[in-house]
Order: sequence, then structure tokens, then C-alpha cells
Amino acid sequence: MNHPLLRAALALVVITALALVAGLGLGAETGWAALALGALALLAYHVAKLAALIRWLKQPGATPLPEARGAWDEAFALLYRFERTADREADRLSRALMRWRQAGEALPDGVVILDAENRIEWCNEGASRHFGLDLRADPGRPVTNLVRQPEFAAYIEAEDYAHAIPLRSEHGGGLVLSVQVIPYGESQKLLLSRDITRLEKVEIMRRDFVANVSHELRTPLTVLAGFLETVRDLKLDPQRMRDYMNLMAEQARRMQRIVDDLLALSALESSPEPPLEERVNVHGLLARVKADAAALSGGRHRITLDAMEGFDIAGAESEIASAFGNLASNAVRYTPEGGTVHLTWRASGAGAEFIVEDTGIGIEPQHIARLTERFYRVDRGRSRETGGTGLGLAIVKHALMRHQATLDIHSEPGKGSRFTARFPARRVLPAATRAQDAATA
Ligand code: ADP
Repeated sequence: MNHPLLRAALALVVITALALVAGLGLGAETGWAALALGALALLAYHVAKLAALIRWLKQPGATPLPEARGAWDEAFALLYRFERTADREADRLSRALMRWRQAGEALPDGVVILDAENRIEWCNEGASRHFGLDLRADPGRPVTNLVRQPEFAAYIEAEDYAHAIPLRSEHGGGLVLSVQVIPYGESQKLLLSRDITRLEKVEIMRRDFVANVSHELRTPLTVLAGFLETVRDLKLDPQRMRDYMNLMAEQARRMQRIVDDLLALSALESSPEPPLEERVNVHGLLARVKADAAALSGGRHRITLDAMEGFDIAGAESEIASAFGNLASNAVRYTPEGGTVHLTWRASGAGAEFIVEDTGIGIEPQHIARLTERFYRVDRGRSRETGGTGLGLAIVKHALMRHQATLDIHSEPGKGSRFTARFPARRVLPAATRAQDAATA
């Protein structure tokens, strides 16, 4: 028997003993009356403690624990401890729930919890963005009443959730979403949505690119095949034969140029970023660029170079040469005979810049933003006549981007163009280091 119960039994024994003594000393009636009085007092004490307990149980946190002795004291203490533990557990659970909610809300993807009837139980910010859901008002409403695209309704109704479906969102500026339902628990579902707008764009670009490459190669290939059949089927005199061979060689060179430029682009995309420590001797490179431009011009243009001394670029020489060379050769190719092409290399407030100015045909403003797209040309015929592939400026942009440099294009139709490649200060090496390099070499 434990201690509090022993004390309760002791109280009964004491009352009975006192009543017995009273009975023996003062008569049996007095004894019985004393016993009844004692029992009543004990009962009143327990009723009062029970009432206090009920009062406390109604608001355990708000009222102090009632004071008591013996078995009641122990019962109160146990209940108090039980209440504290339950409070702590509830606190822990509500904090855990809050953390899960916060994690769900922080997800960039959309998450909607649906019940068995596809009514929204909960959704996060991402879902509200993707589907235009109202986080407060929409829980409890069927999701198909709120996301109204027929393909979504069909997906939900078919209950075949093995794959995600693409969905063009009517909200958030026409996002493209990948939407999937994942059943869980008894009959609940998670509706997940992911923004795949960028992926979709890349996919469209990839498809366009493949179509463009095929088209660009097919044209010279068709011409080449036509000539080959003519040469095979007809008896041609040696002069005609030579002419045909030259035309075929020209088409083969065109295909070769396209493939070379494609390979150059793919190398730019797949190689690591150009080193910051490797010095590109810009003066030597500019001399070569000018000589190549002069060779391409064949004396039909005035080509000048104005290069500041005292600094170089850190990066990949072949990429800088390809960027500068493409800009200079474009200037020659799009400038009519008698025009001028001027190359400048100079320091700028923010680093250094290479400028190619020409007095050529110029470019209408609506084309300028698209010039660096692969295969974009203002005048397809002129580009082809001058040996263009439509990839030159795409190569320039990529090579510059890899050096954190930018390309700026200014042009006036009929007057000429100015292409400026701007390098940031961290890619510019002062000549002092070059002198030291030479000394230590
Ligand atoms: P392409 O091989 O056709 O020259 P690019 O990518 O080098 O391809 O250039 C894209 C288009 O930009 C050209 O087809 C041409 O229309 C225009 N362009 C480029 N450079 C010049 C320039 N200096 N003057 C006028 N137009 C230019």
C-alpha cells in the first residue's frame, strides 16, 4: 500500500479510535455521534478537494494547482505533470507542423493537397502563383472548378496519374507547367506543378536549330547533287566541266564553312571558362585581324587600326581572335567598295574595348536585337554571296560572354555600323606585367 493511501486509512482509524474513546467515556450515543461527525468532516474535505480539482481541470493552465495533502496532493501533482507533458507534446507537434508548412510554402514548385473528392485542403504560394488559387478562400473548393483547362479536368477524371502532363497556365504571364497528381494515404492526393517555361523555350530553340542546320546544309547539298548528276549524265566539253567542278567546289566550301562554324560554337559551349591568368597579346592579334580583313577586302576598302598601348586581355587567344576576326570580316563584307573599316582598341572607364566601325550598308533597328541568334540574317542573299554562314555573330557573342564581355551594336541604314566589344576591368592586364613577363621569360 502506498504512502498517501496509508495516510487516508490512518485518518479513518484515528476518527474511529476517537469515536471509540468518546463512546467508552461518554456513552455509546456520544461515540456514534462522534464517529458520524468525523466521517462527515472527512467526506466534506474530500468533496471540497474534488470540487477544487474539477475547477482546475476546466482551465488547467490558467488557474494555480489547488493545495492539498495526502492522496489529493499526489493526485494533483500527477495530473499537473501529465498536463505539462501533454502541453509540451502539443507544442512540439505544432512546431513540427509549422516547420512542414513553412517548407511546403518555401518550395518553388506548386503543392496542393486534395481530398477524396478533389477538394483543396491546403496549397502553397507556388500553386497559388501557377493556378491563381487564393490561399485563404479556395481551400474546400473542388480544384477542377478553379483550374478550368479541359486537359486538366480530363487528367483528373481519367485517374491515370503515372505521368505528368504539360499545361499552359492562364496565370503568371502564360507559364508552361508540368503537372502531376500523386495519390497517397487513404484517398488523398498531392497535386504538384513545376514551371517548365524555360525548358520549353530551350526545347523550341533546339528544334529550330536542328531545322535550321538541316535547311542550311540541304541547299548546297541539293545544288551539289544536281551538278554531280549533270556531270555524270551529260557529255561536257572540258571548259564546261571545269566550270561545273568550280561550282561544286564552291558548294562544298559553303558546307565546310557551316560545319566549321557549328563546331566552333559547340567548342565554345562545352569548354571550360577562359583562364584569368593567360595573357592574350592583343597588339599582335589585332595586326593579324587587320591583315585578314585586308586580304578579304582585296584592296576594295580603306582599313585602319588605332590601338592603344599599355594593356592586354586575360583569356583564351583563339576565342578573342575568332570574335575580333568575325567582327572585322563582317565590316568588310557589308561595306560596299570604296568604304572604310576602322578598328580601335582602347581603355575605357570600366575596362577596355574593341570597336569596329564601317561605312557600310547598316542595319534597320528592328533586326539589331536578333543579330546574334544562330542563322539570323538581315539579307540572306547578301550573306551567302559574301561567304556568310549566319553564325558569325553568335560565335562573337559566345566568345565575349565567356570573357564576361558584352557586345554593343549601333547602326544606321545606309550610313554604317559600329560594333563594340567591352571587356570588364578584371580581364584587363596592365603592360607593366607584360614587361615583367618579358624580363622573367
Ligand atoms: P553572316 O554570316 O550572315 O554575316 P553573322 O552572324 O556574322 O552572319 O551576321 C548576322 C547578320 O548581321 C548578317 O547576315 C548581316 O545581315 C548583319 N550584319 C553583321 N555585321 C554587319 C555589318 N557590319 N553591317 C551590316 N550588317 C551586318
